[in-house]
Amino acid sequence: MESSIAQDVDSFDQLDLSPVMRRALRHAGFEKPSPIQAQLIPFALDGEDVIGQARTGTGKTAAFSIPILEQLDSLEDCRDPQAIVVVPTRELADQVGREAERLARGVDTEIAVLAGGKNITRQLRQLENGVQIVVGTPGRLHDHLQRRSLRTDSVWCVVLDEADRMLDIGFRPQIERILRRCPRDRQTLLLSATLPPTVRRLAESYMSQPRVIDCSKNEMAVETIEQRYFTVAQNRKGDLLDRLLEREQPEQAIVFCRTKRGTDRLYRQLKHTHDNCGSMHGDMQQRERDRVLQSLRDRKLKILVATDVVGRGIDISTISHIINYDVPQDCDDYVHRVGRTGRMGRDGVAFTFVVPGEGEVLTSIEQRINKELKRDSIEGFEAVEPPPKPKVVEEDSEPARKRLNPMHRKVRRRL
Ligand code: AMP
Repeated sequence: MESSIAQDVDSFDQLDLSPVMRRALRHAGFEKPSPIQAQLIPFALDGEDVIGQARTGTGKTAAFSIPILEQLDSLEDCRDPQAIVVVPTRELADQVGREAERLARGVDTEIAVLAGGKNITRQLRQLENGVQIVVGTPGRLHDHLQRRSLRTDSVWCVVLDEADRMLDIGFRPQIERILRRCPRDRQTLLLSATLPPTVRRLAESYMSQPRVIDCSKNEMAVETIEQRYFTVAQNRKGDLLDRLLEREQPEQAIVFCRTKRGTDRLYRQLKHTHDNCGSMHGDMQQRERDRVLQSLRDRKLKILVATDVVGRGIDISTISHIINYDVPQDCDDYVHRVGRTGRMGRDGVAFTFVVPGEGEVLTSIEQRINKELKRDSIEGFEAVEPPPKPKVVEEDSEPARKRLNPMHRKVRRRL
């Protein structure tokens, strides 16, 4: 794998795009390419395999959609799929499909979203009528492969979006089968927030001399977001949430809970005091989840209580506040949650409720984002307990790599 730095690109005009694409970009309100777009598009247009380390909120969907759309044969010339985009969740599949449609403006383009939980008959009909781009979840794509309804002979590009997440969820077998069924000389673009060994192994087996682009630093998604935390006793979180919503008057907020039951419980409490609130978690029917998302998009919902699984696909630019009612289970989840606001450099604010004993989690989040969260307070909700004695870590016992990170020095503290 070779790390690559592309030329400085600060305008779409420098990217060798067709006039119709440039018009579509203007229409979408995209003024200049985001870093991942500036770097990935030239390599992808050259037909190279690319690994892009980037998260949602950084413009990665357009980064892989633009080169695909630019190189598609018309439906008259080819009725079978030419590009397959594999994504971890149904919501993300819808979102990628919508973004690709938007960028295809001005050119008739058939895009099929093949997500699980959706009517398969309709998908079969769509495939039968001819499609150019397929966006789908691994399970449903695999299902179509088995039914022979998804033909792969003409596929020249496969995108693995949020590859780390897909592998975490356990989709490796399906992803491998999809890749094995596509022509060997295809192009493969892999997008991932992190590049753990599992992702690297997948890349080594199925990609050819990929260029590696690292846009994980300088993340617009969390850089522009004000991030604060409250310390609060578990049984006072509900009251704190009420007070915080009253103080902040969010345009739209997502409140993240750790469990489905917790989400239901909080939603039942909130709906007594807030008319326009909704909830969303993995046990809900797909149709219901779509309906809730649409209401959020239409701004009929002001507050959404959600779990991580469904929260991570949400791309709605009007979300002004993220509230981590429960701290996320891992640091990547934190970045994904917080990235739901402040989309593409807009302002946003994120609050995290931390109960005594969760100080370590807060510390690892801060190490992950390389930034200290500011402590916030509301009258009656000042720090709940004096900090325990900080754990003494022998400076010399830390691995050398860790010591390079200044956050490791700053964060031994509190709660
Ligand atoms: P993504 O990371 O693909 O989920 O994109 C996040 C949001 O940024 C989406 O709403 C995109 O439509 C938007 N976006 C992507 N690229 C650009 C750009 N170059 N300029 C402005 N907005 C963009």
